[in-house]
Amino acid sequence: MLIAARGFLAGCTYHCRVTSAKRVLLAKPRGYCAGVDRAVQTVEEALTLYGAPVYVRKQIVHNKHVVSTLEARGAIFVEENEEVPEGSTVVFSAHGVAPEVHEQARARNLKAIDATCPLVTKVHHEAKRFASEDYDILLIGHEGHEEVIGTAGEAPAHIQLVDGPDDVENVVVRDPSKVVWLSQTTLSVDETMETVARLKTKLPLLQSPPSDDICYATSNRQHVVKEIAPDCDVVIVVGSTNSSNSVRLVEVALGAGARAGHLVDYASEIQDEWLEGASTVGVSSGASVPDDLVMEVLAFLAERGFGEVTEYTTAEERLTFSLPQELRRDMKAAAAARELAAAAAARA
Ligand code: SF4
Repeated sequence: MLIAARGFLAGCTYHCRVTSAKRVLLAKPRGYCAGVDRAVQTVEEALTLYGAPVYVRKQIVHNKHVVSTLEARGAIFVEENEEVPEGSTVVFSAHGVAPEVHEQARARNLKAIDATCPLVTKVHHEAKRFASEDYDILLIGHEGHEEVIGTAGEAPAHIQLVDGPDDVENVVVRDPSKVVWLSQTTLSVDETMETVARLKTKLPLLQSPPSDDICYATSNRQHVVKEIAPDCDVVIVVGSTNSSNSVRLVEVALGAGARAGHLVDYASEIQDEWLEGASTVGVSSGASVPDDLVMEVLAFLAERGFGEVTEYTTAEERLTFSLPQELRRDMKAAAAARELAAAAAARA
């Protein structure tokens, strides 16, 4: 398998791409974002530090493979705090939780480690601030998604959900001059802008969030897929069906002109008939997907003649987040205790 690089960063446009009988256009950025990387590392470090089992409320990130890998190491995934034995350690997922979940943990004497992505926390802060100023907050997002439940829980009396453009007609506010919209971090950029445009038609004084709520990782992954999709007969996105940003990538690919799009957790789920008659296959992955799963897809495609891979890069990502403060504090204390023990052993 040969991977060549192409990109837009240096001003190279799509016209410079190579052509061949069968090829893969590999999207970059793809896969793990900073928030997912931090959340997965949080569970791994917690397992190392406290030992198994470590309880995790909800899937730490929405990816089947990541969850089963952590389960094999001793993580136990639960739906609610009440399933966690009193006094145990529980990690909250990257999608964020409502304040009442923290209260439940305190009531059960749980040691809670909050792996909420800082970019989700930012939206929580916005919700709290606008609620404290008595705004009506229109939260654009998908009903029932964990992130939306967590954000809405910050100010339930002020927040109403707007689930896509068609939901705008149901919006009712107290004062049209004091309304702001916020959003889930993993939505389709284009669909969200359509929802906002409709909201602004209905509520001309609607305020926008202080900064983009749809996160950099979601936007970047959608942008590159949009660039490659018009030339693809089929786009394969690696990701799980409950991963909002992964599902959006398939929609974006289809909306941008790919003739077909499929979401798979593993290469083994790719059906040979999807590739029949195809000369160009696009490949990307959601923000919760480890890149080795993408490499397995490339190997699968190479075995079927799609051995030439051109990676198209539209952005470089360097963002990283430090681990949750409560975990870092315990790691530091454990390291100090190890040093003391080693010094004592040397003296003995
Ligand atoms: S997709 Fe965005 S908001 Fe979600 S964990 Fe990744 S960086 Fe954070």
